[in-house]
Amino acid sequence: MPRSFSLQRNMIPFLKYRYRGERVDCPVCGSADRLTAATFDRRLKPLRTVVCEDCGLFYTDPMPTEAELARYYADEYRADYQFAFRRPRANHVRKKEHEADRRVRDILAHAGRDRRRTLDFGCGSGELVRRLAAEGHAATGLEPGRSFSSFAAAQGREFGSVRIDGGTWREADYAPRSFDVITAYHVLEHLREPVAALRRIREWLADDGRLFLEVPNLQGYPLKCFEHFHFAHVLGFSRDNLLLAAHRAGFTEIAELAPTSWVLRKTLPGDPPPAIDPAATARKNIAEYVRPVPWGAYALHHIGRMRRLRAAVRDIVARPARFERQVAETGRAPTVERR
Ligand SMILES: [Zn+2]
Repeated sequence: MPRSFSLQRNMIPFLKYRYRGERVDCPVCGSADRLTAATFDRRLKPLRTVVCEDCGLFYTDPMPTEAELARYYADEYRADYQFAFRRPRANHVRKKEHEADRRVRDILAHAGRDRRRTLDFGCGSGELVRRLAAEGHAATGLEPGRSFSSFAAAQGREFGSVRIDGGTWREADYAPRSFDVITAYHVLEHLREPVAALRRIREWLADDGRLFLEVPNLQGYPLKCFEHFHFAHVLGFSRDNLLLAAHRAGFTEIAELAPTSWVLRKTLPGDPPPAIDPAATARKNIAEYVRPVPWGAYALHHIGRMRRLRAAVRDIVARPARFERQVAETGRAPTVERR
C-alpha cells in the first residue's frame, strides 16, 4: 500500500524528498569528478543531479541507498509517477500493449524465432511477457513493484508459460545461462549499480543469447534542463556511456535501434574495442546542461508542449473505449509515455 504521507509530500514543490542517500562515484566509469547539472527536478523539488566529467553520465547526488531504492520501488514508485495504487490504470496497460507489439517485432527480427526462453527484466505490468508467451516463448518477468507484479502474475495466468517473479534483481536467483533473450526496457536508469546489474544479466543469459537494452536518452530532448531529472531516475544515460556500461559488463553491440536502444551479445575473445568516446559525451553534456536555462526559453519551449499536456490530461480522464477509438483512427496510442 502507498505510504500516503511521503507520496503527498513528493507532489509538493520545494519540499525535499525524504531520503538520506550517500555519496557515490560515477556508477558507470568510477570517476569521482563531477559537476552539478541541476539542483531542482521537474517537480521543482530540491534534488541535486551531477554529471560525470569523464563519461557524461548524470546521476543523483546524494544517491539513494540500496535499501531506500528497494523500499521505494516495492511500494511507492508506481503510485508516485503513474497514479497507480492497487493496480495499473487501464490506459497505461493499453499503451504498454502497443509498445510491447513494437518490441516483439524488434525481438523477433534480431533474436530470431528459435530463442524462446525470455526474461523481461523490470516487466512492469507484464504486457511484453504476455505478448512473448503468445508467440510461444517460455516468458518470465521480474518486477519489484508489488502492485504491478501481482497484476502481471494474475494477467499471465491465462497463458501456460508465463512466470512473474517479484523482488529486486539482487534477490532473483535464476540459473546461469537459463535465458536466450533478456530485455531491459527503461530499467537501468532506475538502478544505482548498472554495471553490476548487467553482469548479473550476463550470467543468466545463454552464451549465444541476446540482450535488448533501452533507456531514455538525455541527449534526445530539445531543451537541456532540470525538467528531465526526477527522483525515480537516479541515472541519466547518453549513447556512449550506456555502451560503456554494457562493455564493462561484458557485452558487445550487434544492432542500434536508437542512440540509447541496443541489441547486444556477450563479448567474445578478439572482439574489437568499442567505438565510443565517453570523454566527448562528457564535454557535450557539460556544455549543454551545466548552464542556466533562461526562463524565457523555458516558457517558450512549454508553449510548444501544451498539446502533449492536453493529451496527457485526456489520457487520464478518457474512458478506455474512447482511447481505443483513437487508436483505431490514428493507428497508435494518443500519447507516448517516455518515462
Ligand atoms: Zn563516469
